[in-house]
Amino acid sequence: MKKLDIIVKYADLNRFSLAYVLSIIENYAASRRHVNRIVLAKDVVREIERSDADVIVVMYSIMTPQIFEEEFLEEISNVEMLKRRKNVIMIAGGPHASGDPVGTLTKLKFDIAVLREGEVTIPRLLDSILNYDDLSNVPNIVYKYGDKIVKTFDYVPPRIIGSAPFSRTFKIYAPIEIMRGCTHACKYCQTPRISMFRIRYREIDEVRRYCEHYVKHGIKVIRFLAPNGFAYGSDGRRPRPDKIEKLLKTCKQVGDVKLVLGAFPSEVRPDFVTRDVMEVVVKYVHNRKIAIGAQSGSNRLLRYIGRGHDVECVYEAVDLCIEYGFQPCIDFIFGLPGETEEDVEKTVKVMIDLARRGCIIRGHTFMPLPGTPFENEPPGKVHPKYLEALREIERMRRLEGYWKEQEHIAEKIHKYLHSRCIT
Ligand code: SF4
Repeated sequence: MKKLDIIVKYADLNRFSLAYVLSIIENYAASRRHVNRIVLAKDVVREIERSDADVIVVMYSIMTPQIFEEEFLEEISNVEMLKRRKNVIMIAGGPHASGDPVGTLTKLKFDIAVLREGEVTIPRLLDSILNYDDLSNVPNIVYKYGDKIVKTFDYVPPRIIGSAPFSRTFKIYAPIEIMRGCTHACKYCQTPRISMFRIRYREIDEVRRYCEHYVKHGIKVIRFLAPNGFAYGSDGRRPRPDKIEKLLKTCKQVGDVKLVLGAFPSEVRPDFVTRDVMEVVVKYVHNRKIAIGAQSGSNRLLRYIGRGHDVECVYEAVDLCIEYGFQPCIDFIFGLPGETEEDVEKTVKVMIDLARRGCIIRGHTFMPLPGTPFENEPPGKVHPKYLEALREIERMRRLEGYWKEQEHIAEKIHKYLHSRCIT
């Protein structure tokens, strides 16, 4: 029988998404005798050298900013060289591979890019690789076939299936994903495109089981992960406080747990911060901050980028948060495509006003992410008027964010997407 080693690349940045990938692989290995080793590796090259398996599958979960790290580029080029001596297959998943699968194969030299979610694709892909089967039967992948690039059929399962938020082997306990996908269409965002504008929720019983598992392993602060934290159980357009309550109440009954919803690592849309939702949330959550995506203080720009809410809605959400004793943290994106001087001035005014009301302002710079309608737009530049406003907000001690780093990364992404190779 052929032996298979699966090496998963470890990076601090995507430690939590790796927990989900590892849980899929652990489930797979439990029912397949040919899996020799599952390795979580910081140094992939060393693990390939060590391996005596017939087939070595190396998996990376990639976010676009990671591809500019020197270490990453050096490692993938070393792995490429090892392919001359070993039977190595390089698989990339994550938002970058979904957004730019062709570049992932042609510029980064991966063999297979996994689009969308891994639960259905990974087990079928591993079986096909080991049996030298036709990969065209594996959903959601892009791969090289001779000098052609082949994309297989899309499949988004009706439910979130088969991946726990933790790895039993490597003891990584990630925030519990309660929702996947989005029905909104903000033009800078990869999330709705990866799941083809569908939303699915994890069943409450399943979430409860994970909470019990976390408590058993001494984890008392349980964070929920969702593109829109207050959308649980909804149609993606209007909140369902009854469903949120059922979820939180059930999880609270698990024992002495502190639940975090609507704050890191998730945020909420302002139109989901309603009085009914706040009445529920305030009873159950441990966090005292709520992260809200405003993105701009200009209604014209909000319409143009497809946010589906206005500035007034942000103010209503902020007022409600404060009324219920939460500190709002408000996200803004600088340098969005089509941003005019007037948009900048309006946004500056709103940011300063919100900071004075006690909000934390979290600044971001627009990055043209692959697979989004804005991927060909120029990288975001932080207007001097923003810099001046940010200094003022910093003096109030109300500033957070990585807009400086993102401005550099945005430039690199733009160059990368418009070049024929990575270097
Ligand atoms: S930014 Fe949020 S609301 Fe907009 S498309 Fe992305 S996940 Fe959905």
